[in-house]
Amino acid sequence: MSFAPVGYRSTRAPDGESVSFDDAVLSGLAPDGGLYLPDRMPQAPSGWEEEDDPAALAAVALAPFVGRERGAVEPVFRKALDFRLPLVDLGDDLYVLELFHGPTAAFKDVGARSMAGLMEQVMEKRGESATVLVATSGDTGGAVADAFAGLGTVRVAVLYPRGQVSAVQEAQLTAVREGVTAFAVDGTFDDCQRMVKEVLAARELAGQHLSTANSINIARLLPQVVYYMHAWARLRGSGETRVPTFVVPSGNLGNLTAGMMSTDIGGMRSDFVAAHNDNDYFARFLAGEAEPYAFDPSVRTLSNAMDVGGPSNFERLWALRGEDLRRAVKGHAVSDVATKESITRAWTERGYLACPHTAVGLEAAERERAAGRPGPIVVLATAHPAKFPDTVIEAVGVEPPPHPGLERFERAEKRAVPLAADAAALERALTSF
Ligand SMILES: *Cc1c(COP(=O)(O)O)cnc(C)c1O
Repeated sequence: MSFAPVGYRSTRAPDGESVSFDDAVLSGLAPDGGLYLPDRMPQAPSGWEEEDDPAALAAVALAPFVGRERGAVEPVFRKALDFRLPLVDLGDDLYVLELFHGPTAAFKDVGARSMAGLMEQVMEKRGESATVLVATSGDTGGAVADAFAGLGTVRVAVLYPRGQVSAVQEAQLTAVREGVTAFAVDGTFDDCQRMVKEVLAARELAGQHLSTANSINIARLLPQVVYYMHAWARLRGSGETRVPTFVVPSGNLGNLTAGMMSTDIGGMRSDFVAAHNDNDYFARFLAGEAEPYAFDPSVRTLSNAMDVGGPSNFERLWALRGEDLRRAVKGHAVSDVATKESITRAWTERGYLACPHTAVGLEAAERERAAGRPGPIVVLATAHPAKFPDTVIEAVGVEPPPHPGLERFERAEKRAVPLAADAAALERALTSF
């Protein structure tokens, strides 16, 4: 091998033993309950910014992290990243990076599809099978179910809070797929996330590996560095030399963590803004108003994929940057009222139709600009507006254009298994499904 593969260590044991990428992917969570982080951050080979194909860029930048040669991982990324990632210029140095052109119309397709391909390689190499658990506040479940369906070596259990996801999201989650079971949990997203963590702590169930495809899993998170590098390179390529600011609509903070890792891997400078809805723990932490890990219960908002009280990747960010986070990242909390106004304003002033999550980001961008932030601001557009038609129609009176992926699910047969908000109930269900 032309490089030493990166190892992975638990956030709770920074001086502990490293495990391989394959082991980190298979277990999801470290045995001590921490999250895996790379034990070093090899920079992408110089000239990476000339690479204008995201799949090739992913292979170049991430091969050392996956511990395989570039040629072995490139086909995985080519299959996973088979959709456009347009950088839309809205004028006044404001850009939108559209990450929602994949099959389930949200940015989670990037991480989920890449992870499915990487995990399939691991299982084939080992000749074993695994069960992947995933808790979803809306978008993750659909992306993961779609990415992993029919893999053969991996079966998937999706947990979602019953009655708390949009109709479009529910259709995606519960569409019948080979190897995928959807559980409608009588509780909140935080309950779903806790149940997954508790069952994962057992590590094995009926002789099968247990893992997770939440952004707890490093294989979901790593591929997301690629679109930051790709966007940065495109700005450079257009003659832009100022430091860009990425505004990240945030919930579990996986996307933001990937963004911050991209600056190490790309050896480039970018600034970051975390845009939250009323689930604003991290914004308050950044402002010095909340202690590390002093999380809150989640509340429901219009941008429901960001309704997270205790962001799981806070642990990674804190391990990576510590107190420096408060200097490196600016946080904003955007209410539902302001979110709707933001959808309206983006439409009337810029002719751009945004989903509620993207609108939270656009509002944070406007606030940063008003406060004098210079340079290009890139808002990550995390979902297609057609995924949230009710809110969009209410805000602008216009029906969002259809997304080709979504219509497919409307026609599909649906099935969900009801489940109490209890890890023991999940364990019982998993042994019998
Ligand atoms: C998951 C999701 C987010 C939040 O991303 P995190 O990585 O959890 O911070 C934002 N917007 C949409 C549409 C999502 O699906």
